[in-house]
Amino acid sequence: MLRARWPQVNLTSLRSGMNNLGTDVVVAGAGPTGLMLAHELALAGVDVVVLERHHERTGLSKALNLQPRTTEMLELRGLLDGAEERSFATVQDGHFAMIPIGYDGWDTRFPFQLGIPQAQVEAYLEERLAAQGTKVVRGAEVIDFVQEKDFVSVRYRTDSGENRLHAKFLVGCDGARSVVRKRLGVDFPGVDGEGFGVVADVLFDKIPAGAQKQWRTMRNVGEPTGATTFKGLIPLGEPGLYRFVYGDRASRPKDIRSAISHDEVRQALLDSYGETATVSEIRWASQFSDAARQAERYRVGRVLLAGDAAHIHFPAGGQGLNLGVQDAMNLGWKLAATVRGWAGDDLLDTYEAERHPVGAQVLHNVAAQLGLTPRSHESRALRALFGDLAELPEVSRYLSGMVSGLGIRYTTHGTSHPALGSRLTDQDVPTEAGPLRPSTLFRDGGFVLLTTTQAHVDTARAHAYSPRLTTQLVTTLPWPSTDAVLYRPDGYACWVAPTPTR
Ligand SMILES: Cc1cc2nc3c(=O)[nH]c(=O)nc-3n(C[C@H](O)[C@H](O)[C@H](O)COP(=O)(O)OP(=O)(O)OC[C@H]3O[C@@H](n4cnc5c(N)ncnc54)[C@H](O)[C@@H]3O)c2cc1C
Repeated sequence: MLRARWPQVNLTSLRSGMNNLGTDVVVAGAGPTGLMLAHELALAGVDVVVLERHHERTGLSKALNLQPRTTEMLELRGLLDGAEERSFATVQDGHFAMIPIGYDGWDTRFPFQLGIPQAQVEAYLEERLAAQGTKVVRGAEVIDFVQEKDFVSVRYRTDSGENRLHAKFLVGCDGARSVVRKRLGVDFPGVDGEGFGVVADVLFDKIPAGAQKQWRTMRNVGEPTGATTFKGLIPLGEPGLYRFVYGDRASRPKDIRSAISHDEVRQALLDSYGETATVSEIRWASQFSDAARQAERYRVGRVLLAGDAAHIHFPAGGQGLNLGVQDAMNLGWKLAATVRGWAGDDLLDTYEAERHPVGAQVLHNVAAQLGLTPRSHESRALRALFGDLAELPEVSRYLSGMVSGLGIRYTTHGTSHPALGSRLTDQDVPTEAGPLRPSTLFRDGGFVLLTTTQAHVDTARAHAYSPRLTTQLVTTLPWPSTDAVLYRPDGYACWVAPTPTR
């Protein structure tokens, strides 16, 4: 058996540089994508090593939100309560080009954004991962790899020198400048940035007039300030502390990676809010670009890409972290099934088949949001008209479905049934023992069968790609013309049993 040839990893040895240790999967990068993926793999009993180049967590947060679909996914794993404890806001809407859009057209228990700093998401996921016995190896930078027929040999650098680690698979979750993607030689087509943005966490003595004190809505959070310029202010939960965002889509510093000085941020605050707002401290500031690129492939042999390593875009609509976590949820159970020998290699190909179009759609909607910049008389009119359209429930539903991930439906082959490819909406289902919340059945990361008749259990097993299958008899299903719906571990229906004609 393959597993016998791969000794368990000893973390102390990893840091000190012993060579030729083995594991099932190496995840490069302990950002939200890598941590979520490692969590999914560990849950399925896969040996996983997360290599992270930073010695310590930075504690800094680019993203500030969880979209409803990500929240639903955390709930599937019982991770939501802990995330909520670390959140600072519940925001009733989302936005598209800073035009507020509601989630109320969606059948979800979570029609809101959860305001939570990225650093908190990471800290929490890392904590949960450690509770499963998997620790992140810090100060370990992946520098190269070689693919062999049966394994990948991953080269990484620590303070004590260079090391190698053999794994069945390597997943690059190493962010926008992914070394894994570059070494894989996968094209990363797209557009270079033309403009820049700045995020800064700012402590006001006196907050600007009209600023929200608590983040409850996207209304009046941000706005275009000129033909290509924009600004925004988000309260971060601590009195006086705000995320200040500003930028210009038509001008770009020579080096977008260079540090932004606090004087520059103070000047931008003065330009935006005048002398009535006074600042006592700038805690952190960073520049970002509006480049947009997507890896042409998400998988080459035993190496895969997820999160920012696979796609980058301007942070419009609050989507990047969410997209990465949802990539991880899609990939996790498939990679686990492949590694554990429950499924053939072809299952892994469905990761790219399903997630590449979703990533492309996000890049597309971000480009459309940037297209609504009021650069000219005509585009101002277009933006105003679009704002009116966004008030229409169907348009709002369409846009929020795209930005949140709630609108994703994966195509499945075979019979066409409205349930197939759709997400679990997690409304209570009736059972003989009383109403049941379906998400509680997904905690172990396995498949879930909801059925009105025991007879379907065996057939479901044949479709489940995993011995982990929870079956639940219900008195009725929320879908017509079926006696059974099988859900994948990431909460999408993958098989339905047609109701026999009686
Ligand atoms: C200004 C700004 C605001 C944003 N706001 C939002 C928002 O509100 N909502 C939202 O959803 N998204 C937002 N995003 C996007 C979001 O921050 C990213 O999409 C998210 O961080 C992607 O997570 P990731 O884990 O894929 O990559 P990253 O967060 O970049 O994590 C990659 C990890 O890999 C490590 N690493 C890199 N190279 C190596 C290597 N060679 N070896 C080992 N480790 C390595 C890094 O140190 C890092 O820890 C924003 C982005 C920016 C720039």
